[in-house]
Amino acid sequence: MLGSMARKLRAFGFDTSYFSGGDDELMEVARSEERVVVTADRALAARCGRRGIPVLLVRGATDGARLSSMRGAATQARIPLAPGDARCSVCNGGLRPLGRGEAGGMVPESVLARHRLFFRCADCGRVYWRGSHWKKLRYLQGRLAKTPR
Ligand SMILES: [Zn+2]
Repeated sequence: MLGSMARKLRAFGFDTSYFSGGDDELMEVARSEERVVVTADRALAARCGRRGIPVLLVRGATDGARLSSMRGAATQARIPLAPGDARCSVCNGGLRPLGRGEAGGMVPESVLARHRLFFRCADCGRVYWRGSHWKKLRYLQGRLAKTPR
């Protein structure tokens, strides 16, 4: 349900596992991997709460609104939002800087000509650069950092 948000959270540097199984299994994984459950499902959030699993209930129709509400929920639950370095938005792997020379052949020529900084996922090998998508992500990241009123 929150797949696109999961991808954004990874890009922001949160170790994010996207779960598509049943609720019981999800809570089991959250407990064993010591994860915080992020969900838009009120019933699931209540079940997590009863079992003492940290949970953030998000609301809103867009990722921007969901990120803002996630921030508010985290503040309320006193769960610190402390991201690390950006991760691969597709597989959650760590990103390593990639020199322009190394990126040649891995990205389109036009991209190589316009960018100097590249990153490669240590797990799936996907290559990233700070294109137009980056600006939008930075804006959304601000929604998560902003203190709610
Ligand atoms: Zn990856």
